[in-house]
Amino acid sequence: MKITVTRDSNEVEYNISEENITLLAALEYVKENFDSSLAYRSGCKSGICGSCSVLVNDKESLACKCKVSDKDTIKPLKYVKVIKDLVVDVKQMEDLLKNNKTYLEELSNEKILKKDEKLIDLQSNCILCQSCYSSCPVYEVNKEFKGPYILTRVLRYVNDKKELNINNKLDSIQTNGIWDCTLCGNCTIACPQFIDPKTDIMNLRMKSIQNGYTDPTIQSNDFLNEFNNFDTGFNPNSF
Ligand code: SF4
Ligand code: SF4
Repeated sequence: MKITVTRDSNEVEYNISEENITLLAALEYVKENFDSSLAYRSGCKSGICGSCSVLVNDKESLACKCKVSDKDTIKPLKYVKVIKDLVVDVKQMEDLLKNNKTYLEELSNEKILKKDEKLIDLQSNCILCQSCYSSCPVYEVNKEFKGPYILTRVLRYVNDKKELNINNKLDSIQTNGIWDCTLCGNCTIACPQFIDPKTDIMNLRMKSIQNGYTDPTIQSNDFLNEFNNFDTGFNPNSF
């Protein structure tokens, strides 16, 4: 089978003699048999570390989990700086994590029961693979957008009974956050952990409104009154 790997903007074709193998095994094959300088990331090789995420036929996939087929095209993730071949810079993601409130801020004495764990279980499974950012049309045009996994992690702590400072968390996602998302759902489709950032963002919107925040996309009554009273100078009787 033949696969095409994008390497520094060039498309390079490789002939793999093995069948029914993972993409990661195919990349290892290329490195061993054709070009030892091919660069890609991998870690656990079992879908846990999230480091081998790439685009397969323009869809985000973990190289260690997906089977490779004839004519597959392999590219680095989108909207991040490419360091070499399939290796992308993780600094953007590190900064997002550092600059947002995706951690426990103020510890409560609440006892955590099994049913409470369930509320934060799925969101805690994020492996930071960056696939959701590569699929996000808002992140494409606005690098200040907090983006899917940050918002999912904020919900994880908003739902955590151990967190006392819910308001601080909700406050942090009002700008370049929940209201900027188009709810396209690309991130939910891209996530290998079956996390649903789109629904998490909708939940955060609901919780924000319940806590007194306003949806900025809804015009205020003052604005609507002003708009209705605006004199355009147009007189239909003059025709
Ligand atoms: S649902 Fe929102 S966060 Fe997810 S990809 Fe679409 S715009 Fe981005
Ligand atoms: S939310 Fe899913 S797609 Fe996004 S970084 Fe976490 S595991 Fe990857």
